Amino acid sequence: MRPPLEIHIGDRVRLRKPHPCGGYEWEITRVGADIGLRCLTCGRRVLLPRGKFEKRVKAVLGGDGGARPT
Ligand SMILES: [Zn+2]
Repeated sequence: MRPPLEIHIGDRVRLRKPHPCGGYEWEITRVGADIGLRCLTCGRRVLLPRGKFEKRVKAVLGGDGGARPT
């Protein structure tokens, strides 16, 4: 089993599939049972259940822009 994904508000993440607007990068706006995300390309906000979010995320870029593998 994979360890739980460690994310923090303000982190940037890259998802496996692009948003309909074409953006791949999202900022974390909420952390809990649901994960809040804001699309960095169009600014739209979404909420995803944590399990679904963890399946969709490809990489956590971190708040400082330093990439690390998931
Ligand atoms: Zn978007």
